[in-house]
Amino acid sequence: MILTKGLLRSAQNFSDRLAVVDGKVAHTYRAFSDRVSRLQQALKQEGIEKGDRVAILMFNDFRYLELFYAVTAIGAIAVPLNYRLTAAEIVEQLRDSSPKALFFHQEFSPIVAGMVMRVLSVRLFVRVEGERKEEKIGFMIDYEELLRPYSPQPLAYGEVIEDDVAGIFYTGGTTGRSKGVMLTHRNLVSNAYHAALTFRFDRFTRYVHAAPMFHLADGACTFALTLVGGTHHILRTFQPDLFLDWVEQAQPTSALLVPTMVNRLINHPDVEKRNCSSLRQLIYGGSAMPVEVLKKAREVWPHLSFTHAYGMSEAAPVVTALPPEDHQVEERLASCGQVVTGVEAKIINDHGGEVGVGEVGELIVRGPNVMKGYWNRPEETALVLRDGWYHTGDMVYRDEQHYLYVVDRKKDMIVTGGENVYSIEVEQVLYQHPAVLEVAVIGVPDPDWVEAVKALVVKRADQEVDEQTLLDFCRERLAGFKVPKSLTFVEELPKSAAGKILKRLLREQYSQPAD
Ligand code: ADP
Repeated sequence: MILTKGLLRSAQNFSDRLAVVDGKVAHTYRAFSDRVSRLQQALKQEGIEKGDRVAILMFNDFRYLELFYAVTAIGAIAVPLNYRLTAAEIVEQLRDSSPKALFFHQEFSPIVAGMVMRVLSVRLFVRVEGERKEEKIGFMIDYEELLRPYSPQPLAYGEVIEDDVAGIFYTGGTTGRSKGVMLTHRNLVSNAYHAALTFRFDRFTRYVHAAPMFHLADGACTFALTLVGGTHHILRTFQPDLFLDWVEQAQPTSALLVPTMVNRLINHPDVEKRNCSSLRQLIYGGSAMPVEVLKKAREVWPHLSFTHAYGMSEAAPVVTALPPEDHQVEERLASCGQVVTGVEAKIINDHGGEVGVGEVGELIVRGPNVMKGYWNRPEETALVLRDGWYHTGDMVYRDEQHYLYVVDRKKDMIVTGGENVYSIEVEQVLYQHPAVLEVAVIGVPDPDWVEAVKALVVKRADQEVDEQTLLDFCRERLAGFKVPKSLTFVEELPKSAAGKILKRLLREQYSQPAD
């Protein structure tokens, strides 16, 4: 199965249903697929061929969806880029993926103009109308101008096979240098099946793309929704006010948010006054969800059904899910659920043997959703992909019923005086304190302990608390070696564009010897 067939079916069966709503734009499935067909013809005419890369530097937008489908229908490869990166990092990813075309929101025109001479592979620069007007530069063409000469034809996909790469998704770089994850049509379509089943999407689902579309946290739902003929609602960027406004006005039924977004929403002063009754489902995941945040979210929105999803770009991305029913069992709130249909999982020790119930080991997964490899990085691919098993680098354990619990990323785990400390466990405790808004726990070099546990805490605006009180709070709830050796209050924590806390940056910052 290839991605195009999912769109074709919906265009045929649900032609008059709304496919996408973005501000004032509302397209039915017929209109959506007609525009994809016109874009597909334009790309071909511009010399984009099977295997070529097409980079996308855009905020969330209805044309993101058109690009995903048109590019992949001709066997070319979509390369969504993280617009929050620096110009130098964007150039690095463009050089790595060497695309023939670059589609960008006009807000990025100055950045694009500055990189033209450094990214010589790009022959076609297409500007997408944005919110801010920027002067057009000679070599750029406007998106609608590109489509204008073409009239809709039936979508063609003749040369494309399941094993063709459909997208290169750069990892968020939470733990290290960002790598391009190659996902094939098979990878993305199998995730679409898993997601449609797990999230129970159907043609009445109105899903709001609130997390950035370049990242697979949101991408977990994108192709599933088209497959079942649901409606894509587009929110350009996530801000709590904009999200709440959208929910009141456009009345979506489903959303996927990463935990930091959920935390921002539930701490928004107006959240309880805002009408979120259209929303029925909140999918959360992408990083560890503090149980306290989840409990508060359930209090704020008692009518919502919550689904927890865990995964990674390399698995296209969903690996496990905890459905709404399982949220009724208190101890399951810390679980990321059970492995989704069609995916195999094992928890292994350092020697590759499977560990027993309750024992922590590394999670490895295999299935039709597991990536083809990292673009241009065979050695790094070989390190994590062995006999079809992807080594996630996540430390987990399972219970008797095969519910998984993520305790930490291997790289975030702290080894202090020979003992393992899982940063998430310490964070979960600190989140229980009413004065704590956000927290990250990291290991920092220490002459006595090799690594020492350190907590960085953002306080709630209306609360006062001192370091000693929080350390005592931890001491009452954690074994002595897990209690942070130091705790620093900060104004905010650095986050990736996908809303993940960047512990790598924190480690760099707090590993420097004090002046
Ligand atoms: P990056 O590694 O750059 O963040 P991804 O966005 O692919 O790239 O992140 C995948 C990782 O995020 C997983 O390996 C895991 O460590 C973490 N993660 C994703 N979902 C969850 C979840 N529900 N609970 C805990 N950790 C999660």
